[in-house]
Amino acid sequence: MRRPSMLSSVLAAVFLLPGASAGDEIYPAYRWDRVSAGVYVHAMTNPLAGPVDGNSVVIINDDEVIVVDTHIDPAAARAVIAKIRELTDRPVTKIINTHWHDDHTNGNHAYREAYPEVEIIAHRAAVEALRREWQAMEDQRREAYAALEASDVLAAAESLDDASDAVGYRVYAGYIRALKPELPTLQLVYPETTFDDRMELTSTGRRVIVEWLGRGNTDGDAIVWLPDDDLLIAGDLLAAPIPFAFDAPLEQWIETLDRLAAKGARTIIPGHGDIQHDHQYLVRVQSLLQQTVQRVRDARENGVSFDELTNAVNLEDFEREFAGEDIERLYAWNAYYLAPGLKSAWTSLGYPIPEP
Ligand SMILES: [Zn+2]
Repeated sequence: MRRPSMLSSVLAAVFLLPGASAGDEIYPAYRWDRVSAGVYVHAMTNPLAGPVDGNSVVIINDDEVIVVDTHIDPAAARAVIAKIRELTDRPVTKIINTHWHDDHTNGNHAYREAYPEVEIIAHRAAVEALRREWQAMEDQRREAYAALEASDVLAAAESLDDASDAVGYRVYAGYIRALKPELPTLQLVYPETTFDDRMELTSTGRRVIVEWLGRGNTDGDAIVWLPDDDLLIAGDLLAAPIPFAFDAPLEQWIETLDRLAAKGARTIIPGHGDIQHDHQYLVRVQSLLQQTVQRVRDARENGVSFDELTNAVNLEDFEREFAGEDIERLYAWNAYYLAPGLKSAWTSLGYPIPEP
């Protein structure tokens, strides 16, 4: 996930409803899943609630702990650190950020505070993107949240007739609720170790291999492969129950998923959502990406312009498959896959986007 794009409409509605208040029942709950001996996942109970936070994976080895992804909310990262200390007295020595998005990197500083020696690892392109994008993104968020309270956004959500808009507001309230208290002290600790293709971590008791399989959800997606556990941590190359397609090189992503599938892992931990115990969801996502690219290509060959894309390309068969009638999934489908995915397919095919 990257950034919710509904900011201006939320601001407009909230300022119409000053003083309203509502409970904070949207604040996300996380759960722990044990996936293998010494491997635990900290995941949102509802992966589509706000803030749409990534999964964080804890790998406890014989002499150290490795953590993959650090959450958007530093408080969630601190909860993971507290749990690690309950489970073991071994230190966290390495963090792997699967990609640059803030729902996988914001908690880095919580680890650096708790474990000053920790080494943070990411793909070279992920670090370049962090240096280019992260600060501006959080500054924009700081400015946007300054005059907003989660309770007001929630109250505004309740007054809306459109159920999909109301979902969007609740998601946004979740971001404000989680991040507003953290923003004054939030700073990114940049990964200091980068890799291009593959690195095997020296760690006793378990092989931990970090690999770049090609461009996918971003330019620099790392996967973490634990061959002894037959377990693969996919980052947002796989996100469930709805894939995220912001600025994603869609065409290349399809091939990258081929290479991911070729690992033959029995268990796949996606960047968001439920742990996968087979390849069914991966195959469905791949088919969605293939058809998105194909249908955008067909539309272009039939003379459709970029501005006409949303009306001209029909992905309702996939919408039914991925979202069904579930209003929360439908919101996520439209906001995180369909709108950004059509644009991503268009640009990944090399078609020009007109000047606004
Ligand atoms: Zn994510």
